[in-house]
Amino acid sequence: MSTTERLEPGMTIRTNYGREEYTILEVTRGCTCPSFRDSMNMKNPPPRPPHLHLVCYVTGDPKKTKRWLNGFDEATLRSLEKTYCGKKTELDYDYITITGQDGNVQLSLF
Ligand SMILES: [Zn+2]
Repeated sequence: MSTTERLEPGMTIRTNYGREEYTILEVTRGCTCPSFRDSMNMKNPPPRPPHLHLVCYVTGDPKKTKRWLNGFDEATLRSLEKTYCGKKTELDYDYITITGQDGNVQLSLF
């Protein structure tokens, strides 16, 4: 399933590899930074397609400890690269699912 919904601060999301729900603090879009692996291995790593970086905290965390979700395609909310995030046994894509807006404001879909 794809989404055309834009991620915005205040929305709550989940990933396919973790149990925690995150609340978005900041959204950076249109970034083309190279992959971590390329920047480790190359002098002039190639840019990646435009992607998102999110700053989040675990919903309910009173300290709002920052967590980063990096390198997601906005149209599909899928990671650009396959990862082992969440202790996957095989390399696979990560996905973001939107679970709510501002904690309680739900979109009226019906
Ligand atoms: Zn980037």
